Amino acid sequence: MPTVPIRVLSEQLISQIAAGEVVERPASVVKELVENSLDAGADSIHVEIEQGGLRLIRVRDNGIGIAGTELALALSRHATSKISSLDELESVRSMGFRGEALPSIASVARLGLTSRLRGEEAAWTLQGDMQKPKPVAHPPGTTIEVRELFYNVPARRKFLRTERTEFGHISQVFQRLALGRFDVEFRLTHDGREVYALPAATSSETRLRRLAQICGEEFAANLRVIEHEKAGLILRGWLALPAFSRSQPDLQHFYVNGRTVRDKLVNHALRQAYADVLHGSRYPAFVLYLEMDPRQVDVNAHPAKHEVRFRESRLVHDFLYRAVHDTLAEVRPDADQHRIGGTVPVPAIRPQYQAPTQAGLGLAMKEQPATAYRPAFDVLHGRQAMPALGQDATVPPLGYALAQLHGVFILAQNQEGLVLVDMHAAHERVVYEAMKRDLEAGKVRSQPLLVPFMLKVSAVFADLAEQHATTLTEMGLELDRSGPQSLRVRSVPTLLKGEDVAQLVNDVLSDINTHGSASRLQETQDHILGNMACRSAVRANRRLTHEEMNRLLRDMERTERAGVCNHGRPTWVQVDLPELDRLFLRGR
Ligand code: ADP
Ligand code: MG
Repeated sequence: MPTVPIRVLSEQLISQIAAGEVVERPASVVKELVENSLDAGADSIHVEIEQGGLRLIRVRDNGIGIAGTELALALSRHATSKISSLDELESVRSMGFRGEALPSIASVARLGLTSRLRGEEAAWTLQGDMQKPKPVAHPPGTTIEVRELFYNVPARRKFLRTERTEFGHISQVFQRLALGRFDVEFRLTHDGREVYALPAATSSETRLRRLAQICGEEFAANLRVIEHEKAGLILRGWLALPAFSRSQPDLQHFYVNGRTVRDKLVNHALRQAYADVLHGSRYPAFVLYLEMDPRQVDVNAHPAKHEVRFRESRLVHDFLYRAVHDTLAEVRPDADQHRIGGTVPVPAIRPQYQAPTQAGLGLAMKEQPATAYRPAFDVLHGRQAMPALGQDATVPPLGYALAQLHGVFILAQNQEGLVLVDMHAAHERVVYEAMKRDLEAGKVRSQPLLVPFMLKVSAVFADLAEQHATTLTEMGLELDRSGPQSLRVRSVPTLLKGEDVAQLVNDVLSDINTHGSASRLQETQDHILGNMACRSAVRANRRLTHEEMNRLLRDMERTERAGVCNHGRPTWVQVDLPELDRLFLRGR
């Protein structure tokens, strides 16, 4: 082998190698530059992009600026104004601190730096090949221009996608940054076209408007505000109701001390918190902000700072799980969320439909009090009187059943008007929660079969049944092996009595077969209970008596998360009297 002398790498090459870590594509440049602007205290940031950022990325801000004498320093490696000791690194609050971004970018693109220090008259600029800065005209603040990214690293340039794709990444980065700082004005333009113009948002109304601009009106109209504090941890933000779920994890924004983070522990906690209300193949949507003592979290784990390390990871996990889980559990019939045409906490994001006035249509109907509906219904159904609605404060939230529609929906009347319930979905949730409560209390109540049920299964299933006998018993299913390929079922969950036993056992065993392992027992159990509940829930087209319907309504009121079925669909909606009036153009 020919000998190769050992050499020290040149500064330029070191920077280019470092750039590989920080600067992956145009979007990473945007991230670094905007974070610098935020660190500089800017409250207005304008990002201009040309050709997906391949040709130009320009970020202007109105921050504190950089002194003319320090422009060159800002471009040298490990030069930073943000920390000066390991101690400060421990409690770092700024976005940057490595002093790596600008030199890295400068090593793989043509970089121009123009700045005017706040309170100074003169501005200075330093462009790629200039030896020293020149005076220019520029408002207080900084403009950084990055041209021809990777012009000198063809290998990397080759990996870039189309302008459109690259701009898509930029747009995502921009959105995350804009969701992180509502107090800052953000603008994004692409090839001269304005893509986002987001004024600083300081009221809850304007914050929600920004949220809707970035995450969509649908999200903004289907959310819950969360605010939770415990043991020095604060979680704030917005959770989408399960009814608004995604087929991809594309609407999940999580911030730790203002820094956007993608973290396994966080994801796990949130997935678990949503597990009860969301089908496994759907992804929840959320925008959440965790605030905590910066010394309790290490943001130095990754150069691009996406990952964090929590000192007390178990504590953080449990806190997140609890906060989100409990907030979702509050989605009960007494909440406002199911009102059609209602104003869930987003006032004035969607213009409300305005019905034409009666006068305009020449209609003249006499006003009736709300209670006048009732006798008509009662007469129609030949039922004895219900408690008088309208005056009586004891009317339950979901009211009393009036009728069943097409064997699928229950119509009920409550104080506000009409309630529509999806029988199957509601019953599924009620059964599932009841079984889960039992399970948490130790054991799902079970009903012995008078004559044990003999069942032929595969040897694999028989093995599984034997292995998981204790777990199955906890879930209310008692069985033992009666041969190489046969089982004897001795009792079934009380809530599921009357079910097809063979089908039930087969389903449960096949669930264990696909999901089961000792380490994931809890999850598997929930999954199995969910499936059992789903199978057993009243099938569409079954006729229910009024008593049965009312019992289901009462059960729903007592059940956590009764507002959504196990698959995240809503179980009921409220159509209130003003809404009904609007439908019939009354009272306008
Ligand atoms: P870091 O952000 O890790 O300190 P950078 O390479 O991103 O490292 O920036 C180096 C230094 O340049 C920063 O510490 C800061 O002093 C200065 N700087 C960069 N961008 C700006 C800006 N937009 N406004 C003011 N100062 C800036
Ligand atoms: Mg930086």
